[in-house]
Amino acid sequence: MRTSSVEQLILDLFAGQPVETAHFTAQEIYLQLKPQLPAVNPSTIYRALERMTRSGKISISDMGKGAAVFEIVGKERHHHLVCETCHQVITLSDDTIRPLFDELSRQFGFEMTTNHLVLFGHCPACRRKK
Ligand SMILES: [Zn+2]
Ligand SMILES: [Zn+2]
Repeated sequence: MRTSSVEQLILDLFAGQPVETAHFTAQEIYLQLKPQLPAVNPSTIYRALERMTRSGKISISDMGKGAAVFEIVGKERHHHLVCETCHQVITLSDDTIRPLFDELSRQFGFEMTTNHLVLFGHCPACRRKK
């Protein structure tokens, strides 16, 4: 199995999903590719994910799943609010977060490389139950 074909299969896996919801752990990616690559070693998948993260094709973040999640770096950036109780994920457009990033860049002269911001908290339904 050539590494380039593993990378292509990973990209195809993401391409079949809506950008906002396609966040997979390395384990989930391995399990989804296994039917197509019965002989593949999990470490081959994990190494491909590392390479693709380094080259900026995919991003890695913590969304409270207990393991880091990968997602494709799309044209449209987006961010999330994640409920710590029910794990509901709310997707924010970049327009919502951009003013904050711009303000931080201005104040601290800091160039932001974070392209997928995840904020944790409690959703309205869970707050009501408390
Ligand atoms: Zn996302
Ligand atoms: Zn909730």
